[in-house]
Parts: sequence; structure tokens; C-alpha cells
Amino acid sequence: MSTYIFGHTNPDSDSIVGAISLAYLKNQIGEECVATRQGDISPETEFILNKFGMSAPELKTSYAGEKVYLVDFSDLAQAPKDIKEAMILGIVDHHKLGDITTDAPLECWIRPIGCSNTVIKEMYDYNKVEIPKDIAGMMMCAILSDTVIFKSPTCTKADTKAVKELSEICGISDYKALAMAMFIAKSAVDGASARNLNTRDYKAFDMNGTKVGVGQLEMVDISVLESRIGELFADMKLMKEEDGLHTIIILLTDIMKEGSQLLCLSDDVTKVEAAFGIKLQNNQAWLDGVLSRKKQVIPFLQPQF
Ligand code: MG
Ligand code: MG
Ligand code: MG
Repeated sequence: MSTYIFGHTNPDSDSIVGAISLAYLKNQIGEECVATRQGDISPETEFILNKFGMSAPELKTSYAGEKVYLVDFSDLAQAPKDIKEAMILGIVDHHKLGDITTDAPLECWIRPIGCSNTVIKEMYDYNKVEIPKDIAGMMMCAILSDTVIFKSPTCTKADTKAVKELSEICGISDYKALAMAMFIAKSAVDGASARNLNTRDYKAFDMNGTKVGVGQLEMVDISVLESRIGELFADMKLMKEEDGLHTIIILLTDIMKEGSQLLCLSDDVTKVEAAFGIKLQNNQAWLDGVLSRKKQVIPFLQPQF
């Protein structure tokens, strides 16, 4: 029996870096752990791994009979299919509490802050373990990604403090320039299929027994996707059928304009309209100021179901 640490399905940078940074910490304090991932690496995460000369954790999608730590999620819909046959030792997260339960007591570090890696930074401090330069740099990037360079309403003082301390450890003082380069890498859409775009940062939720999927593409300029909206909708229709979704939403988030174009297909669009106080036109609406799925989208959608 080994112990694995991994993040959610369709892993983002926080999920991948969090698995690496938490595994390193656990190994330092005498708990042997292996970082893994549940899915493909995104262009943004690839940028981060390359920048700091690290390789991606091993792909592993089945955990029956293993011990696990979960990072950046606690929803069954974002977990491996056989998670109920694994022994969950702990959860490190910054989302709403999901529907995963355990048979035994567990270590829980869940806080309403901008990034799981900020929580992990505090775990390093708590355990008085030094963070290696390359891991510090990756953690810094994960926090800058999740907080959209501090613009997201999820960003807290704990996140800005962690970035400042991590930037000193990794020796990169102009972290905003690095973050912009990272978001430009994240915005690469040339040659990507509609399915790749729709699922790059996609999460499924069980909302009171109803399946709802919400994807998000964070870009420096969403206008480059204008000519592909029809293609995205055609693929959303397929995803909705394949997964038996009541509602599928894709958010095209423009980090410079600071808002999101919402694309939606639903069995009942009035639920989505009521959630955000909007009227959809051609199944779309601009949500000014909306950058965060976890804080500005899910909490408004959930009560509609
Ligand atoms: Mg995440
Ligand atoms: Mg996160
Ligand atoms: Mg995100």
C-alpha cells in the first residue's frame, strides 16, 4: 500500500503543483508519498514545469486499496471513480466542502483563500520545513494563476503574503511579469480542438441530484475565440448528451477586461438567468467583473437546483 497525493480531474496548475509540493513536504516529515495526477497537463502547467525544470507527476486514475491525500477538491464528481475504495488520509483545499466522506479521522486543511498552494505554504511554515527554490517558484505560479495575479475576489492577504515570501525563496522578484508570460501561455488556443478548450478547466458538480458542468477558459484576450464560438457550442451539446448534464456552462474569462462571456446550454435556461440576474441572448451573456467560478458562479447556481 502506497500513499498518493493528487488534485482534481482535468487538473489545473494548483492541482499538479499542489501534489508535488505537498508530497515533498510529507516526505520531509517522514511520510512517504508519491505525487500523481488524474489527467493531462494543461499548457499553463507545462509552462510552469518547464520554467522550473520539473517533470509532471505520474498519471494515475485508479486508487482502490491505496492511501491518498486530496489537493484542491473534495467533490466526488472530481475524484477518481474508485475513490470510495481508497483510504483518505487528508484533504488540502480552498473550495466549498464537497460530498466526499471518510470512514476514519483525517487531516484537513481547508481555508477560504485563493489557492491550495497558499494552504500548503502555511503547512511548510507550520512544520518548519524549508521549501526548495524550484518548488517555491512553482507554488508562486500556482497562486498567481488561481488568484488571476491577485485580481480574483478569492485572493486574500494570505495569498499575497505567500507570493512575496515564495518570490524571495525562488529569487524571482518580478513575479507579475512571469505571471503575464504564464497567462499568455495559458491563452494559446491555436490548433486546440473544441473539446480540448471546453474541458481544459472543466468541473462537474452534483447540484442536489442534478448534474451541472462548468468549464472556464482564462485568457489574456477572449476575442481570439470569437470565430470559434459555434464550434464550442456544438461540442457543449455533445458533452451535455454524453454526460447527461442538465446544464453546461463555459466561461470565457478575459483577465484584462475582468469579466466573463458565459456560454450556456440548459434544460431550463431560466435557472441560469435567475442565478445571475441576466437575460441570455443566443445562449450567451457578458458577466462583468466575474473572474471566479468558485466564488462568483457556483454559489449562485447551486441554490437554483
Ligand atoms: Mg483547481
Ligand atoms: Mg485551486
Ligand atoms: Mg482556476
